Amino acid sequence: MPTLYDRVKSGEFLFLDGGTGTELTRRGLQHGDDPCWSARAVLEQPDLVRAVHEDYVRAGSDILITNTFRASPMMLEAHGLGERWEEINKTAVRLAYEAIENVGAKRQVHVIGSVSAIVPDGTRPPEEVRRQHSRQSQVLAAAGAEAILVEMINDTTQGRLALEGAKEAGIALWAGLSCSLNERREPVLSADGVLLDQALAQLLPVGLRVICFTHTMAADIGACLEVLRQHWTGPMGTIPHASRSPVPNQYAADTYTPEEYRAKARKWITSGVRILGGCCGVGPEYIRTAREGIQLLA
Ligand SMILES: [Zn+2]
Repeated sequence: MPTLYDRVKSGEFLFLDGGTGTELTRRGLQHGDDPCWSARAVLEQPDLVRAVHEDYVRAGSDILITNTFRASPMMLEAHGLGERWEEINKTAVRLAYEAIENVGAKRQVHVIGSVSAIVPDGTRPPEEVRRQHSRQSQVLAAAGAEAILVEMINDTTQGRLALEGAKEAGIALWAGLSCSLNERREPVLSADGVLLDQALAQLLPVGLRVICFTHTMAADIGACLEVLRQHWTGPMGTIPHASRSPVPNQYAADTYTPEEYRAKARKWITSGVRILGGCCGVGPEYIRTAREGIQLLA
């Protein structure tokens, strides 16, 4: 059986899953204003989390991303789940593998671990932040994740710390950059506003296997890919929003149907994208529609 690394390296076109958090809320998960609600669901609603993963496998995802957004030990500790951080991360990997097993898909489906490059507060020393990301990544890797995707890199300094920590897990490192366009329509990291090419100069030396744009508006991805291609010849992926953020109206301007997503994806593929998924609002129907229409083209 080829590893995920072999498949990525060969240039095979691979489908990720779509958003997990927005699928959980669409299926009735109530989260109030608990920032760690999606990680909490791993403990409190494992069947629901597994069911979302199963639907993505059925829809055609080749890679599932663990439901571990904001599940670093420091983040969970800040929100009352510190003692269970290891259990949450291990269980999240197990739920993804169980979903693959339950569906019994004939094709091979991989699991990668999600680590969020965000901190509960800005007061922690860099070494501490790096260590916390390292601990989470090592648990995800030991539980069977084939790669770590550091998501929500919207700040260059925090992104670099998270990548350096995740690297210590010793498995493939994927970066998920969250970008937007500034007033001159240049791609920037969405929180610190650093130009994408300058951010890449800071992040690439860590040693990355794949670079994706995550939590990024679909309308901005074309410009982001153009800059990325000037600095990176490795595999590129896109994980755009389709509006239904768990935060009401947050991405409301970026609404599109599965068919429109497929049309956008065709353009990204022309720009060199080999790994396609989605986040907030991109559900199983989007992946199914894209897979049906794109596989041959890719
Ligand atoms: Zn998102």
